Amino acid sequence: MLVVMRQNASVEDVQRVIERAASAGYEARPIAGRERTAIGIIGNDHPIDPSLFTSCPGVKETIAVTKPYKLVSREFPVEDTVITLGHTTIGEGHGCVVIAGPCAVESEAQAMKIAHHVASRGTRIFRGGAYKPRTSPYSFQGLGEEGLKILAKIREETGMAVVSEALDHDVFDLVEHYCDIVQIGARNMHNFSLLRRAGRSKKPILLKRGMAATVEEWLMAAEYILREGNSQVMLCERGIRTFGDHSRNTLDLSAVLFVLRETHLPVIVDPSHACGRRDQVIPLSRAACSIGAHGIMVEVHHRPEHALSDGPQSLTLEAFDELLSHIHVVSEAMERLGGTPHHPFTEGVIRQCA
Ligand code: PEP
Ligand code: MN
Repeated sequence: MLVVMRQNASVEDVQRVIERAASAGYEARPIAGRERTAIGIIGNDHPIDPSLFTSCPGVKETIAVTKPYKLVSREFPVEDTVITLGHTTIGEGHGCVVIAGPCAVESEAQAMKIAHHVASRGTRIFRGGAYKPRTSPYSFQGLGEEGLKILAKIREETGMAVVSEALDHDVFDLVEHYCDIVQIGARNMHNFSLLRRAGRSKKPILLKRGMAATVEEWLMAAEYILREGNSQVMLCERGIRTFGDHSRNTLDLSAVLFVLRETHLPVIVDPSHACGRRDQVIPLSRAACSIGAHGIMVEVHHRPEHALSDGPQSLTLEAFDELLSHIHVVSEAMERLGGTPHHPFTEGVIRQCA
């Protein structure tokens, strides 16, 4: 439920609503708007009786939030979430950011070579797995902490922010220490204890959609993170399992459109894991950019045929340059069309009550 305060409501009025929520066993999250304050009430597993709050001084009205995901929903907060890392901002109104790098950090020489190339083309965020969730225990599992140290060195040398995946709690502490963004992979989207850990982190989280997760399950996973206090969450669509066998997964662009509209969080698309084949990465990136994704994350390798993981879907350095020029053209076209207004409800909750 959202409790909307009157324009002239006092700090004490707001405090009274917070206390009333607490005494009924709920949590209250005040959201300061330009003209008035709204207070999100969460922690209920059944509808809340509006009279609990409408009887409080300073309360204009209550709005039932019908979605099971509340904190991530546009019905709840007032503004879009934007994530700032150094000179880069990700989120609504900040174009399509490109995150690039190898599937796995294989050696300092390999990661540095790719990093210097993508950085020289203006890339601001570098990806690289140090702990890899491999289907086979015999496949390359990543360099572990050594890989994270290489990523930290890349940040030092190039100024790019770095993102890597946390496979479990112990690894989370390390990734959080060395990296700027912590990735929760598709296989861990349902790992609720890891999601809670991510929620206690001060670092932004890149939350991938589980390969068989519904959009609601994906958003509820994000809700776990926000519920613990970390609102710096990016959603990442990386393809889902379908009956199709022409590509590794199926890129669910309609889910991207849905979450762009439904939530205030930045939305990233990973075409590399979605299709699993190099020839589709650039066209799918163009598609993602053209529907207003806030970023794309692609795998790049200077010698994909020798990559220790995901070589077939990795762009060569030359193909990466081509990708950037395509993204540039699509972004310009999007701008000419006036962008993509995904937020029919942005400020809407407050405006409706004015
Ligand atoms: C990755 O990004 O390296 C990765 C393993 O992705 P996913 O969790 O989407 O499979
Ligand atoms: Mn990969």
